[in-house]
Amino acid sequence: MTGFTRDEDGRLLIDGLDVAELAESYGTPVYLYSGAGFLSHFSQFRQAVAPKDAPYQTKVHYAVKANSALAILSLLAQAGAGADIVSGGEMQRALQAGVAPDHIVFSGVGKSSDEIRAALSAKIGQINAESPAELHLIADIAADMGVIAPVALRVNVNVDPGSHAKISTGQRNTKFGISTDDGEAERLYHWLCAQDSIKPCGLAVHIGSQLTKLAPFETAYQALLELADRLRENGCDVPQLDLGGGLGVDYNCETTPDFDAYGKMVARIFANRGYDLGFEPGRSIAADQGILVVSTLYLKDGADKQFVIVDGAMNDLIRPTLYEAYHKIEPVLMNGDMSQEIKSGQITADIVGPVCETGDYLGQDRQLPSITSGDYIAVRSAGAYGAVMMSNYNTRPEAAEILVLDGTAHVIRPRRTVADLLALETNPFAAS
Ligand SMILES: *Cc1c(COP(=O)(O)O)cnc(C)c1O
Repeated sequence: MTGFTRDEDGRLLIDGLDVAELAESYGTPVYLYSGAGFLSHFSQFRQAVAPKDAPYQTKVHYAVKANSALAILSLLAQAGAGADIVSGGEMQRALQAGVAPDHIVFSGVGKSSDEIRAALSAKIGQINAESPAELHLIADIAADMGVIAPVALRVNVNVDPGSHAKISTGQRNTKFGISTDDGEAERLYHWLCAQDSIKPCGLAVHIGSQLTKLAPFETAYQALLELADRLRENGCDVPQLDLGGGLGVDYNCETTPDFDAYGKMVARIFANRGYDLGFEPGRSIAADQGILVVSTLYLKDGADKQFVIVDGAMNDLIRPTLYEAYHKIEPVLMNGDMSQEIKSGQITADIVGPVCETGDYLGQDRQLPSITSGDYIAVRSAGAYGAVMMSNYNTRPEAAEILVLDGTAHVIRPRRTVADLLALETNPFAAS
């Protein structure tokens, strides 16, 4: 039994293991991941974009920032995933986890010269340049090092992905990519092809995250294809198109991402056009595979609403308050009676943490059965952009991360202690 299921007594299971027992052993708040889930979503994605008879070569680079745990990167690398990285730190992670350097793509608008040097030294597969200044710097550094930098241009095709503003990257007014509207991308690609220290890798696009419709992808991909064809007609080498990530997930946990529909759309646009394709899925691989388990501390009747105060907070999972994101929240133990209670709306409450901010909530106006202090609550779909965004705000140490694989729970990142946090500081003014 893989993924998240319930047994006949209403106990939540992760890959067959009892979530309540894991919470008991490892304490809360705690992130729990399904190893089988990561592997199955990755292989489904790859199947969908690279069916056996695909008329193009494909590479799938898992977007490390969604969930960058070394153990998860190693699992995915062994299953054939490359890595899409956005910092030198993520490069070190990917390399340490065993991702082959030539399966690493470096994205992001603000690579430092140290990061560019490190990427060229490590001989990673591709750097996606996002501005003229960066492109010039890459060319200079490569020339200085006596190497040839593999570079693609990330373009901005001015498409609204229809997602939350903070995770939309496709419009002209965002900091991402080089505009295709005014010929700038075309000019720069010609410049890039003329550099001795650069090997042209093609074009890249990534218009945003949590896209729930295919239409914006399609518009962006058509624009990308148009530009690529024009560049080829003018004699440029455009070997590959990097189609980014962004496929959304169902935060109600009712469906899994429709990789097949996405793959078919890609095939419709790119079949027999002569480009190799790259993909950078993050959320669609990782989100469904994790939950954050918290314990109920108190129930509190506010003046206008009820609060369930739990031991997990915005420092553990910031998505609800940062993006107004919805995560399904449910008791870890939910028997039939409790489901009935929810239907009849037993309590409607905000699930909030101990952090001193009104924005510290995991969910608002949620229907819950009658729960009591000490009950475990699961925050679903927390496998992507969850643990990676943990902070120590309010001097709260990071939660532990546990990955279940083949019936065994592995601690992949131990819970931090307050002593761990304090040891990272220096205090010249301490009383001796
Ligand atoms: C974040 C990011 C991705 C992954 O996006 P998801 O929505 O998690 O699939 C892919 N490519 C680039 C360049 C990114 O910045």
